[in-house]
Amino acid sequence: MENNEGRADLRSLQYEELKEVLTGMGHKGYRADQIFDWIHRKKVSDPGEMKNIPSSLKEELFKRYEIFPVKKELVRVSRLDETRKYLFRLWDGNLIESVFMKYAHGNSVCVSTQAGCRMGCRFCASAIDGLIRDLTAGEMLGQVYGIEKDTGERVSNVVMMGTGEPLDNYENSVSFIRLLNDERGANISQRSITLSTCGLAERIIRLRDEDLAITLAVSLHAPNDRKRSLIMPVAKRYTVNEVIAACRDYYDGTNRRLTFEYSLIEGLNDSEEDARELSELLAGLNAHVNLICINPVREKSFREPTVQAVRAFQNKLEKNHINVTIRRELGRDIEGACGQLRRSRIRETGDSLRSGKE
Ligand code: SAH
Repeated sequence: MENNEGRADLRSLQYEELKEVLTGMGHKGYRADQIFDWIHRKKVSDPGEMKNIPSSLKEELFKRYEIFPVKKELVRVSRLDETRKYLFRLWDGNLIESVFMKYAHGNSVCVSTQAGCRMGCRFCASAIDGLIRDLTAGEMLGQVYGIEKDTGERVSNVVMMGTGEPLDNYENSVSFIRLLNDERGANISQRSITLSTCGLAERIIRLRDEDLAITLAVSLHAPNDRKRSLIMPVAKRYTVNEVIAACRDYYDGTNRRLTFEYSLIEGLNDSEEDARELSELLAGLNAHVNLICINPVREKSFREPTVQAVRAFQNKLEKNHINVTIRRELGRDIEGACGQLRRSRIRETGDSLRSGKE
């Protein structure tokens, strides 16, 4: 993608690509090491800070490229658990959100992969206005780097669970993972990266062949097609069985344990019968179920089940030998969950998705 000045995102280039660009311009290969280091290790977003790069080289390079801005617009800090929610503004005025979470095992950032989303899940705030555009790999990185700079803390885990469907922005998402993992740059282990998808079966199979040791999380949310299609339009494209078959393929190809996300919605998918059906579906898979209570979104009418119903659901899965955890929720007091901050900003300020600042 190019911006309105016809420039491409320099932060999105893999090391090898950057090297090709620079040697193509007649520069020495080591300039790629230096520039890559500035962008991905020192995490600068202003070429002016690249002290050891001659200005003539920068002038030439930045005629064709720019480091696409991911500019902090707003931060909310949870008083409950130190979770920080960021709203960032992109070059074209679009707003995206990211979340910083502290865990005993390290700091984690939840990144957005698209501005908006076209998957249309009925319970999700990010789907309300549809897809606006894909993010570049560099704009995904910009969220992680910006948060590291802002907090002064190192991020060790990344979850692609913010706004957007990563497998609907496939190349950029994979490119983001490779850049995050590059030891010349952020050097985040593939095992510490999770990609969450609503279940685009063909793309799951394609991802299997990328030779990545990341964790695949699949948003299942219902044990059969009838219930799933009530809440997830994607269920009309891929049946539950097709999704599970793709997951099996993914596991066979990567040996990585699968995660299934299951958001409990009162009266819809939270009965013991649902739990039984889910257990049957996942039997024999090396999988883990993450139960989460649906987060009520203002624009939607879904409600969360009672604590007892959640426990009963969990017990039923455990009895059937399914690994399950109830995901601890962070940042509820700051609209930390699921696209809600961006949404409330749009609602409160009438801020258009594109700011009109272009
Ligand atoms: N598109 C990807 C990743 C983004 S959504 C996916 O579908 O997995 C990240 C997770 O949050 C998904 O499991 C999604 O179903 C869930 N989610 C979205 N809105 C929610 C809400 N209001 N309450 C609970 N979970 C929600």
